[in-house]
Amino acid sequence: MQNILKQFNISAVNSGVSTGAVWMEAGGPQLTSFSPVDGKEIASVKSANREDYDAVVKKAAEAFQAWRQWPAPRRGEIVRQVGEALRTNKEALGKLVSYEMGKSLQEGYGEVQEMIDICDFAVGLSRQLHGLTMHSERPGHRMYEQWHPLGITAIISAFNFPVAVWSWNSMLAWVCGDVCIWKPSEKTPLTALACQHITAKVFAENGVPEGVSCLVAGAREVGEWMAKDTRIPLVSATGSTRMGKSVGAAVGERLGRSLLELGGNNAIIISKDADLDMSLIGCVFGAVGTAGQRCTSTRRLIIHESVYESFKAKLVKAYAQLRIGDPLNEHNHVGPLIDKQAVDAYLQSIEKCKAEGGKFVVEGGVLEGADYASGCYVKPAIAEVQNSYSIVQHETFAPILYLIKYNTLEEAIALQNDVPQGLSSAIMTVNLREAEQFLSQSGSDCGIANVNIGTSGAEIGGAFGGEKETGGGRESGSDAWKAYMRRQTNTINYTDKLPLAQGIKFDL
Ligand code: NAD
Repeated sequence: MQNILKQFNISAVNSGVSTGAVWMEAGGPQLTSFSPVDGKEIASVKSANREDYDAVVKKAAEAFQAWRQWPAPRRGEIVRQVGEALRTNKEALGKLVSYEMGKSLQEGYGEVQEMIDICDFAVGLSRQLHGLTMHSERPGHRMYEQWHPLGITAIISAFNFPVAVWSWNSMLAWVCGDVCIWKPSEKTPLTALACQHITAKVFAENGVPEGVSCLVAGAREVGEWMAKDTRIPLVSATGSTRMGKSVGAAVGERLGRSLLELGGNNAIIISKDADLDMSLIGCVFGAVGTAGQRCTSTRRLIIHESVYESFKAKLVKAYAQLRIGDPLNEHNHVGPLIDKQAVDAYLQSIEKCKAEGGKFVVEGGVLEGADYASGCYVKPAIAEVQNSYSIVQHETFAPILYLIKYNTLEEAIALQNDVPQGLSSAIMTVNLREAEQFLSQSGSDCGIANVNIGTSGAEIGGAFGGEKETGGGRESGSDAWKAYMRRQTNTINYTDKLPLAQGIKFDL
């Protein structure tokens, strides 16, 4: 790991405030990053104080004046080069993600691959930021719309996808002509430092102005400054619903724009017509992958009563085969939770579930011993519950899977929708009628609805996000780029008359 840290210019104590190639003397509190893999201290980062933050915003605002003038395909070319730099650094960055956050090495590499993919997507997009033309009701008039850069995009990100979420936002924002200020999770500041170094090098080589890519490490108060800051037209925030409610209210108060990507409570419906063997892989990976710390992790299985017992038996057997341990060892399936606070939340949820009447068919617990020295390794658990339990209505960011029985598809869909969150959902069935009903307007109410695929593992080409308490934002593919631009409607009169719209007469 020392070599990797060196590769990204990370020393024992680092500044966490940067406008690109320049790293400022940061005056805020020091954040220390501990690896959940072995509990060891990796390095520290000095966070931004209010003065540092204001200086960064000022620099970003100046940079926007220049960056917005760059032709979009030229901005795309810069993003293409960032993608190339990420390809070169994929292995090192993937390992650092795995070590600092605790996800498996394969998932660490996968996260960097996702960043590369979004760069490719953004490059193509840089030539397609187009609006529509409309027919004017007035003779000799032309009407059309165009999309202009918005300004500063603030990016607040969560620990579980410490780098991909930043790239989803920043690569699109950059081709759209915006400048970015990133506040990464205080739990994973080092991977952010690495990304800033990779980007800054490409930017400097291409003469991109200082301030287009900014980093302000810090805890929630830095995010709160962003939410209230009228100099920032767009705040894209990924994290818990609690955080989203606070950010959404603060940005709304000043009538700014927010793009919220918040918690999920994702379910898979296992129909009587499901391919059970295939479904098993999707369910187990969805529930235990990233130790249940994905916003799209599978939290609930809604299983038809006729296959309930047999599928439960398959799950119990599969869970007995899970190997829990060092995520950098590719042999293991499940790594640690992010920290001991997350372990406490996991244990409390198990207790609450039992108190409400939940019956555990696979017991949870914290693993002890030399291989689990960080104290963050927990056993994936499965409980039989009612959907109405308050703990089932709540997102616990840990590998606890709830089983719920159903009789009719209408009932299953109602159960699936009957939670405050609305991110990802799936049905496992080979029955076309069931699949179409699930995808119809009276089916799943989530932002993502899949058939014969689990709830986790979205591709970057689609718009990503969810409804209800998940926040309503959409990022990544499709037309999510529109959130990063302002739309302008233009009407041009090329005659010597000035007819008013709606036939209004106004003679002088
Ligand atoms: P968190 O809400 O604790 O923190 C997320 C980020 O928000 C951090 O950078 C934090 O410093 C900042 N923050 C916290 N409170 C804030 C406030 N009041 N104002 C401004 N900023 C604030 O979340 P976490 O524990 O890092 O991540 C886990 C959560 O993120 C889960 O709920 C998960 O579902 C969600 N998540 C959602 C998506 C999605 O795309 N929908 C993706 C990843 C994670």
